[in-house]
Amino acid sequence: MGGQPLYLEPRLGRRLRSVLESPGWLHMLADALGSPLHVVIPDQIVENFDGFRSTYGRHHLSGQVFFAHKANRSSAVLRRLAATDAGVDVASLGELQRALGSGFAPDRIMATGPKNPEFLWLAARGAVTVGIDAPEELEQLAVLVRTYSLPRVRILLRLSGFEAAGVRVLSRRSRFGTPVRELAAVLDMIERYADAVDLTGVGYHLDTTSVTEKATALEGCLRALEECRSRGLRPRAVDVGGGFGVNYLADRGQWERYTTELTGAVLGTRPPLTRGGHGYGLRNEGGTLRGTLGLYPAHRPAAGARYLDELLTHPAPSFGGRPLAELLLEHLYDLYAEPGRALLDQCGTTLAKVLEVRTPRDGGPLLVRLAAKADDVALEEHGVLMDPIVVPRHAAPSGDPAEPAAVQLFGSLCLETDLITRRTVHLPRRPEPGDLLAFANTAGYCMDFHATRAQDQPVARKVAVWQEGGSWRWCLDDEYWPISVGGAQ
Ligand SMILES: *Cc1c(COP(=O)(O)O)cnc(C)c1O
Repeated sequence: MGGQPLYLEPRLGRRLRSVLESPGWLHMLADALGSPLHVVIPDQIVENFDGFRSTYGRHHLSGQVFFAHKANRSSAVLRRLAATDAGVDVASLGELQRALGSGFAPDRIMATGPKNPEFLWLAARGAVTVGIDAPEELEQLAVLVRTYSLPRVRILLRLSGFEAAGVRVLSRRSRFGTPVRELAAVLDMIERYADAVDLTGVGYHLDTTSVTEKATALEGCLRALEECRSRGLRPRAVDVGGGFGVNYLADRGQWERYTTELTGAVLGTRPPLTRGGHGYGLRNEGGTLRGTLGLYPAHRPAAGARYLDELLTHPAPSFGGRPLAELLLEHLYDLYAEPGRALLDQCGTTLAKVLEVRTPRDGGPLLVRLAAKADDVALEEHGVLMDPIVVPRHAAPSGDPAEPAAVQLFGSLCLETDLITRRTVHLPRRPEPGDLLAFANTAGYCMDFHATRAQDQPVARKVAVWQEGGSWRWCLDDEYWPISVGGAQ
C-alpha cells in the first residue's frame, strides 16, 4: 500500500467511549447474543433532545421536537424518550402503534410519510396530528373522518417547491409535499372540509445539508402562514422537518486528507483506496475529475442542535433580512422539528465478530470476513466513511507494540457485493479471528433500516445498555422500560 495510514476515526461521546472501553463485557454480550449485535444507549437520546430544547430556549421559542422514529426501530430508545416530554414522528401503522404503546399521548405524535388507509384511520381515530402530503391525501382523510364520524383531525400541511425571493428557483425536486404555488387551492379544500380537519400549521422536510435551502423553505412557510391568516384560518406551527445531521468524525484533518487522497486515487495520481477503484461517485474522464462525491459529509461540526441554531439565525430577505427566529417569536408561532439521525447521535454501536483474516498472496490489504452482512452495518449504504474500532478478545502481551494494518472488510453472504466497506480501512492494530469490530454511532439508519434475512442469516439482536452505580448494565431492547423495577432506570 505504502504511505501513511489514512485513518477516519469516529467521534466518541462520553457514554459510547465508556461502552467501547469495556472489551470483556462486549465480548460477553456478543458471545451470548451472537454477531452482529446492535447496542443502543437510550439515555443518550435524552441528552440530545435537551440539546434541541436549549436551542429553542435560546431563541425563546416554544413548540415541539418530534423524534423521526424511522431512523431506528429500537423500543428502548422510544420508551426512554416517552419518559421525557418529547414528541415522535411516525411514518407507518406499525410505528404509530408502537409509539402509542410506548407511552406517547396522541398530542405528542405526528403521522407523516406515505399512508395506507389503516394508518390514516388509526391516526384520525387516535387524534394524532396528521402531516398532509398532497390534496389527494387531504381528501382521503376528510372522507374517512366523515364516513366513520370521527372527531375533527388536526393537520399540518407539508409544502415543497419554495422559491427564494425573486431570484433563483430551488432546484431540488421532492416527491413529497404540495407545491407552494398550489397553496390557495389546498386552502380552499381545507375550508371546504372544515368540519373534518383543523389546519394547525405548515412545514417542509428537505433532505439536504444546505442551510440556505432550508432557510428559504422556512421563509416560504412564514409567507404561507400569512396567507392562511389573511383568509381567517389560524394555523400557528411551522415544522422544519429533519435533516440536522451528525458529525461522525473526530478529526477534520483526517477527513480532508482522505477526500483529497480519494480524488488523487480516482485521477490515478496515487494508488487506489478502494476495491476496483470505486470512486464513491467520482470518476476519471480522460484525466478530468467528473461526477459528484456521493458521501455523507462525515466531518461537520455544525450538526444537530447547532445546525438548527444556524437555521434560526439565518436572515429572511423577504422580511427585511430579519433572523428567522425573531419572526417566529414575533408571531408567537410554535416551532416543530423532526430530527431522526441527529437525535440518535452517539446512541449506539454495532458489534461484528471477525471470522477470518486472509493475507492475499499478491500483497494488498488483509481480507477480513465478519459475522455480519453489509445490511447490518449500513454505514457505507448511507455514504458514511468511518473506521471501526478493534475490540480484542485477548489483551496484547505487554510490550508488544500494535502494528497498523490495512484491511478490506467483507460480510458473510456468498455475494461479491456483500462488502462492509468498499475502501481499504486502516486500523491501528491487526484484527484477529475472535476479535470484535465495533462500528461506532450506527443508531441513525445504520442498524435496522435495511435489515434483511438474506441467506437465512440471523437478523442482529439489539440490546439496551445503561450505567448504574458506575457499571454498565444491559437487557434485550424489547425488555427495556425506563423504570427502576427489573433493572432499567
Ligand atoms: C426521514 C424524515 C425525517 C428525519 O430525517 P433525518 O435526516 O433523520 O433527521 C423527518 N421528517 C420526515 C418527514 C422524514 O421523512
